[in-house]
Amino acid sequence: MTIAGRNWAGSYEYAAPGLVAARTVEEARAAIRRAHREGGRVRALGTRHSFTDLPDTTGTLVSVLDLEPDPQLTPAGTVAVSAGVRYGVLAGWLEQQGRALHNLGSLPHISVAGATATGTHGSGLGNGVQSTALRAIEYLGADAEPHRVEPGDPDFPALAVGLGAFGVVTRVELATQPSYRMRQDVYSGLGWDALLADPRAVLGAAYSVSVFMSWGAELDGQVWRKARLDRDGEEAPETVLDARRRDDDLVGIAEGLEVDNLTEQGGRPGPWNLRLPHFRADATPSAGAELQTEYFVPFELAAEALAALRPLGELIRSRLLVTELRTTAADDLLLSGSSGRETLAIHFTWQRDLEGVGAIVPEIEAALAPLGARPHWGKVHGLDAAGIARVTPGLAAAREVFERVDPEGMFSNAHLERLGVRLPR
Ligand SMILES: Cc1cc2nc3c(=O)[nH]c(=O)nc-3n(C[C@H](O)[C@H](O)[C@H](O)COP(=O)(O)OP(=O)(O)OC[C@H]3O[C@@H](n4cnc5c(N)ncnc54)[C@H](O)[C@@H]3O)c2cc1C
Repeated sequence: MTIAGRNWAGSYEYAAPGLVAARTVEEARAAIRRAHREGGRVRALGTRHSFTDLPDTTGTLVSVLDLEPDPQLTPAGTVAVSAGVRYGVLAGWLEQQGRALHNLGSLPHISVAGATATGTHGSGLGNGVQSTALRAIEYLGADAEPHRVEPGDPDFPALAVGLGAFGVVTRVELATQPSYRMRQDVYSGLGWDALLADPRAVLGAAYSVSVFMSWGAELDGQVWRKARLDRDGEEAPETVLDARRRDDDLVGIAEGLEVDNLTEQGGRPGPWNLRLPHFRADATPSAGAELQTEYFVPFELAAEALAALRPLGELIRSRLLVTELRTTAADDLLLSGSSGRETLAIHFTWQRDLEGVGAIVPEIEAALAPLGARPHWGKVHGLDAAGIARVTPGLAAAREVFERVDPEGMFSNAHLERLGVRLPR
């Protein structure tokens, strides 16, 4: 076992020879200063929920997970908080203050810094990725000095989904709004014809909607409808297209998967932070022995994208645990998967079989290439620098910012160089 150990899924062992779990910003600064003196590299490590060598380094990993979260509501209506805080912790605190975030990902255990660094998202045609809530980013740069950027600063669109490529983010400010209540209802029996005929009617059926499916000949998809009572109304429809509302207490994400770790369903109203994530913050989420892959296509091409993958159904099913479809609003962050376009996110949770999954991923990428599919930065994919450049109009501008703020490449690594996010050194 290396010093830093493995990622959450156990699929990657960090090679970094050093790991500093900073308890104060001063300790993080000291680690960067030391690396600078010795000519070594640094990468920030979050809660390890990415699936590849993305956070790894030949130098020192710096974690800010142990900083006191110290959440503070500001007069501007934002919350300032240490960047290593997990969403579940922050969301619970905000709910106690009568405030809320606009959205959450499926899992409340992931750190805010790590999630925003890769453009992590929840669902909802009106909901931007988690990084769109950033109202300030405080980070330690290669000079080990604190820096702060806000929306409106020229570098902000590059740094808001910044892949740790420019420094260690220590504190953020996020937009908040008054707390809201939600209900979560599960519908089953969604068919291919209905989904392909009108993806917007399914995925736009409420504030946040996920479709779980397995690419079978009969789709038999599940629709998870997360409705805001103040916007979508207190009642839930009996059907979403041909999918019917279930009256069971809890319906699992897929056949055979655990239900005890899921947030409440069955239409019982509750606060936003206990309905938006699929998994409960106080329970162990999915087993961990899995891989994930996800592609972002323009929502207007949703039906084409699904139809392009449908013939691969048998191949996909050979290693699939489940597919989830979600949506996001367009944004203007250079490296966001939703940059410049309303998006359909097509996600695959796989068995943890790197070789088997490695044989399927290129087939999926070939089918989706004509549609300009972008990969999730934190998940398994096979695109190289040319492939990333083709689908990421903001890549060159983002790289220019990273190279300017970190000219010696302290926060670069092999992964970022392979994808063209940083220059090769
Ligand atoms: C079970 C599971 C569920 C998931 N659900 C979703 C989901 O619903 N939606 C979705 O979009 N994705 C999802 N993901 C993917 C996950 O959100 C991303 O991989 C995210 O980047 C992980 O954050 P982390 O804190 O674990 O970061 P890590 O995996 O530790 O690092 C990821 C990146 O963030 C950078 N980073 C971390 N901390 C900092 C910091 N302090 N400063 C600067 N950069 C930093 C790292 O350098 C690295 O580049 C899921 C993953 C798992 C395993």
